[in-house]
Amino acid sequence: MADARPMPESRLAVGGLVPFTTIDFPGRLAAVVFCQGCPWRCTYCHNPHLLPPHDGDRSWADVIAWLATRRGLLDGVVFSGGEPLLQRGLAAALTEVRALGFATGLHTAGIYPERFAAVLPLLDWVGFDVKAPFGDYARVVGCDGGGPARNALRLLLASGVAHQVRCTVPPEMDAETLARLRTELRDMGVAALEIQACRPLDSLARVG
Ligand code: SF4
Repeated sequence: MADARPMPESRLAVGGLVPFTTIDFPGRLAAVVFCQGCPWRCTYCHNPHLLPPHDGDRSWADVIAWLATRRGLLDGVVFSGGEPLLQRGLAAALTEVRALGFATGLHTAGIYPERFAAVLPLLDWVGFDVKAPFGDYARVVGCDGGGPARNALRLLLASGVAHQVRCTVPPEMDAETLARLRTELRDMGVAALEIQACRPLDSLARVG
């Protein structure tokens, strides 16, 4: 696994901001906060600049001050990445966003189930990215992450939080593997799997 040092307790490292989206948080006019850092190295990652776990390129204080000016214009904020659960400051940031009156969303691959459990009560919606059948994760993400991801998905399904389970299908995933993934998810109680197109032009070279 690549560098998985957690971010400092009280800070959110922001690697980017999209001020307005209608597609990243279903049913909401939202801003997207891109969190810096991810311990995985998916073969098709479309945000490689967000992978190193550094401080990010803008302060959370600036972002929350800007969000305060968006009340009445936006109705949601979705945290994406990178992997937002890498950052210890995520729960505090979600609490601040809710205090401003925004709905909260999270894009995650479920890398840290315990941290996910801690923030689920602070979320209105989760976009949960599955990578492969859980026994095949190493081939896609570069490490054995299937166990934590399965545990995190179980937590999500038990929570009652609105969600979408989706998979970006890389070119190397064949029909049998995708069928196996669908079966695993159905057996867990996932009602639907959203298939997303891979964007190979932006993809990462395999690391390690
Ligand atoms: S696609 Fe994979 S490597 Fe890229 S941010 Fe998501 S989990 Fe991390």
